[in-house]
Amino acid sequence: MKLEDDITSVKNIGASRAEKLKKLNIFTVKDLIEYIPRDYDDRSTSVKINEVKINEVNTVKGVIMSKGENVKIKNITVTKIRLKDDSGFIELVWYNQPYMKNAFEYRGQYIVTGKVTNKYGRVQMASPEYEKIGDERELISSGRIVPIYHLTYKISQKLLRSTILSTLEEVKNEIADFMPESMRIKFDVCERRYAIENIHFPENNEAFFKARRRLVFEEFFILQTKLMQLRGNIKRNESEIYIEDTDDSELREKFPFKFTDAQEKVMNEIKNDLKSGYVMNRLIQGDVGSGKTAVAMAACYIAVKNGYQAALMAPTDVLASQHYESFTKIFNEMGIKCVLLLGNMKKSEKRRIYDSIITGYAKIIIGTHAVIQDAVKYDRLGLVITDEQHRFGVRQRSKLSEKGDMPHVIVMTATPIPRTLGLILYGDLDISVIDSLPPGRQKIDTIYVNSNYYERIYNFIKKNADEGRQAYIICPMIDESDNKELKSVNEYTVKLSEEIFKDYRVASVHGKMSSGVKQEIMSEFARGNIDILVSTTVIEVGINVANATIMLIENADRYGLAQLHQLRGRVGRGSEKSYCIMISDSKSKISKQRMKIMTESSDGAYISEKDLELRGPGDFFGTRQHGLPELRIANLYKDTDIMKEAQEAAKAIYENDPQLEKEENRGIKKKTEDFFSRDESRIQL
Ligand code: ADP
Ligand code: MG
Repeated sequence: MKLEDDITSVKNIGASRAEKLKKLNIFTVKDLIEYIPRDYDDRSTSVKINEVKINEVNTVKGVIMSKGENVKIKNITVTKIRLKDDSGFIELVWYNQPYMKNAFEYRGQYIVTGKVTNKYGRVQMASPEYEKIGDERELISSGRIVPIYHLTYKISQKLLRSTILSTLEEVKNEIADFMPESMRIKFDVCERRYAIENIHFPENNEAFFKARRRLVFEEFFILQTKLMQLRGNIKRNESEIYIEDTDDSELREKFPFKFTDAQEKVMNEIKNDLKSGYVMNRLIQGDVGSGKTAVAMAACYIAVKNGYQAALMAPTDVLASQHYESFTKIFNEMGIKCVLLLGNMKKSEKRRIYDSIITGYAKIIIGTHAVIQDAVKYDRLGLVITDEQHRFGVRQRSKLSEKGDMPHVIVMTATPIPRTLGLILYGDLDISVIDSLPPGRQKIDTIYVNSNYYERIYNFIKKNADEGRQAYIICPMIDESDNKELKSVNEYTVKLSEEIFKDYRVASVHGKMSSGVKQEIMSEFARGNIDILVSTTVIEVGINVANATIMLIENADRYGLAQLHQLRGRVGRGSEKSYCIMISDSKSKISKQRMKIMTESSDGAYISEKDLELRGPGDFFGTRQHGLPELRIANLYKDTDIMKEAQEAAKAIYENDPQLEKEENRGIKKKTEDFFSRDESRIQL
């Protein structure tokens, strides 16, 4: 048997079991032995029956002392079998599994594991896992630390365990190590073969930790190596663009507010970078509403005053247009020319803008990814800012950098990222955090209700509109779908505008509209000509309409916590009291917990942490969102230390052999390619 062989070449795995294994992404022998347990049960020690701990899982050994019997209690068939050792008896019981009656050999010796209860003096073990002692086969499911796998589609733990064990036995000599020995020694990681064997069937705790360390290290190492290749040079680059400290009071006077301390702090970090002689690569993380745009403006101002152009890139036309409006309002009066560049503009219009850019007449260029098209040539690009940058791919970012003479780069995001993920994604970036909101912001009251409350909510929205303020209503769908529970923008807008809110101005916006139409509606809303805007999550990022004070989210259980937080951030942007109302009829416990967290906290960082907790391991916050392959063993919160070591190892390899062309790195190359078999363009850095 070879590692690349199809899973059907494994004993006992026929076509139908293979189908089920495919659902677990197990296609080959290699996939099988690399299928990492999600948990373990320490069954290495068994106890005497008279020493079992009640209400806990115990492992005991004994002899089957009764023929199984089935008794009917109400509608339930209860199967009971007695197991004895030299200290006493215990009753093994199963519910509605009458066939268990014949599963044991009378007077056979067994080892069983299960939760023990004491019901009115009857000590019982319910639905235990069991194994016969004295089988020529080694004990698999008991008498040791036993792996527990994530399972679906009716494959039993026992089958998977025994299949993995016997397969490992057969192929273990084929498990080669792609890591050079010197690296293993330097970073104190065990050999791959040892790790794979012991991640399934660890001899003891120490073996398990060693195995896990190796596999976590390996996973981070491969991830980092690939990202370094994608990102290019990670060294600090010296910069030709020198931008000195510049008095920006002219600009500051235009703002109706003073910068918060947090904004000042970030501004200082930016200024230091700009004059450092190195290319700035800075991530600015600030919760929704923390005032990132004003910081971006100040940075642009300084660049322009030093004779450079600045570009600001936003993920959507709507957001780019909004930025353009707020920038022109401020910069026009100072005689600094801003232009807007969108993908869907007329050719002639684009050409006119291109001209203004190359001649240097346009100082601040705002747009979507249109600003990085090849046709756009800059005169003297000194600074590039991307807003809500998690929407941008790594290629777009580096393409933009190539536009100028390695311009300084700022990326802004409201998405709080776990520290480890930050290091992975932005290993080459410095991070600034705007960690406080502008003063005077009122807390957004967040309410979670079910659909019994519609009438009250509608009345509340009407009252709000009567007072001159506006509301968003978010739906999960654009058009009605088979699932009638899900609100859709189109149908719901008709109902709202013709019935419920017929005396109000209702409009809708969604992602399938042309961007011109979208923009038009958004500006109407911003101007206050629409009372109620029904929308999909297209308005999720960045939009800033201070007069909107109600965010109503339909089918709120359909969204993740981070997304709910972003949506909520669309209100509470002015001085008026704002509300976020989440409607959900979901009975799911997780959904309810999610809603509860939203009602309790307005702290983006806290919310994202809870998000991770609720999703549980295996769905690490952010990795998939960033298009990264799912981590199978490493934990982004807990394994920061190993991550740093892996990063160091990856750097050393990268600096020596960036494209992994050397013979000794061939194994690493293959491994990176396997790990990233998914479309790389989806990776967003
Ligand atoms: P975000 O960080 O989510 O992009 P914005 O930059 O859109 O936030 O700012 C949100 C709102 O806060 C805007 O209306 C902006 O004018 C206002 N704002 C920004 N900085 C301050 C400040 N220092 N004091 C008061 N209001 C501010
Ligand atoms: Mg913003």
